[in-house]
Amino acid sequence: MSLSRGILLWASENQWMRRHVPTWKFVKHAVKKFMPGENLEDALDAAKIFQYDSIPVILTHLGENIKDLSEGGDVCDHYLEAIDRIVEKKLDIELSIKLTQLGFDISFDETYSRFKKIAAKVKEELGNILWIDMEGSSYTKRTIDFYKKIKSEFDNIGICVQAYLYSTEADIKDILDINPNIRLVKGAYSEPSGIAFPKKEDVDKNYLHLAKMVMKNMAEKKAFIGFATHDENICAHLIREAKHYSVHKDKFEFQMLYGIKPAFQKEMKSHGFRLRVLISYGNFWYPWYMRRLAERPANVWFVLKNIFN
Ligand SMILES: Cc1cc2nc3c(=O)[nH]c(=O)nc-3n(C[C@H](O)[C@H](O)[C@H](O)COP(=O)(O)OP(=O)(O)OC[C@H]3O[C@@H](n4cnc5c(N)ncnc54)[C@H](O)[C@@H]3O)c2cc1C
Repeated sequence: MSLSRGILLWASENQWMRRHVPTWKFVKHAVKKFMPGENLEDALDAAKIFQYDSIPVILTHLGENIKDLSEGGDVCDHYLEAIDRIVEKKLDIELSIKLTQLGFDISFDETYSRFKKIAAKVKEELGNILWIDMEGSSYTKRTIDFYKKIKSEFDNIGICVQAYLYSTEADIKDILDINPNIRLVKGAYSEPSGIAFPKKEDVDKNYLHLAKMVMKNMAEKKAFIGFATHDENICAHLIREAKHYSVHKDKFEFQMLYGIKPAFQKEMKSHGFRLRVLISYGNFWYPWYMRRLAERPANVWFVLKNIFN
C-alpha cells in the first residue's frame, strides 16, 4: 500500500478527525464532487437525472458502526421511507446497506430482523436487488454468514466481496451454490498484508481471476455479477471474458460511483452494457469520503484547491 493511501485510510478512522473535519467548509465543498447532497431528496433528484440517460442507480445512506442500537432502528425506518419515495417517483433504484449501520457491532439478531424488514419491502415494492456492502475484514466472515442466512429467505439479496482479501476466493466458492448476486470490488479499507494483497497489481490480477471464476460457473450456477470498478483495462478484459464464457449481457453489469469517470460511465452505457451508478448521501460522510480520497490520493489536490476558491 502506498504511503499516501495508508495515511488517508488511517485518517478515515481517526476519531478527532471524524469529529472535526466534517465542519470545515472547504472539505464540505469538495465532497460535492462525489455526493449530490446530504438528503434523500438530493439523491433522488440526482437519480432522476441519471434516469433521463437510462442509467439506473443504487442508493446508500451513509453511516457505519453505530454505537447505540436504537440508531439502527432509525436507519431501518429511513430505508423503509426511502422505498416509498422511490415508488412514488417511479425510479429504477436499488439500495445498498452497511450491516454496522443497522447494529451489527451490537446484535446480530436485531440487525437481521431490521434487514429482513427492508428486504421484504424491497422484494414486494421494488422487485430488485438489495445489496449488502462489505466492510473491514473483521466483519467478512460474519457478513458472509449473514448473507447465507438471509439468502435462504429472500432470493433478491446481493453481497459485495473484495478482491484484495486472500479469503475471497473461498468465500465466493462457498456462496456459488446459493444463486448469489455478487458485487465484486477491489476493496476500500486498510488491511494487513497477512490477509490482503499489499500490491495493487496483485489485487488487479485477483480481481480478474475471481471474475473469471464466477463467469466460468455461470452456465451451471444461477449467479448475477456486478463488476464494481472504474478500471478501464479491467473492464475491457471483463468484456472479452464475458464473450469467451458466453455470459449473456443480462447476467452482469458494471457498477460505478457517482462523480467518478462520468464520461467512461456514459461510454459503457452507449456500448450497450448494463451500468448502475451508486449515489451516496447523508451527513456521516467523513470516513466514506476519506476512503474515496485514498483510492486516488491526487484527489487531495482538489480538496486543497477549495481552500483558495
Ligand atoms: C458500486 C460500488 C460499490 C462499492 N462497494 C464497496 C464495498 O461495499 N466495500 C468496499 O470495500 N469497497 C466498495 N467499493 C469501493 C472499491 O473497493 C474501490 O475502492 C473503488 O471502486 C476504487 O477501485 P477501482 O476498482 O475503481 O480501481 P482503481 O484501480 O482504484 O481505480 C481505477 C481508476 O479509476 C479512477 N478512480 C478510482 N477511484 C477513484 C476516486 N475515488 N476518485 C477519482 N478517480 C478514481 C482512477 O482513474 C483510477 O485510475 C465500491 C465501489 C463501487 C464502484
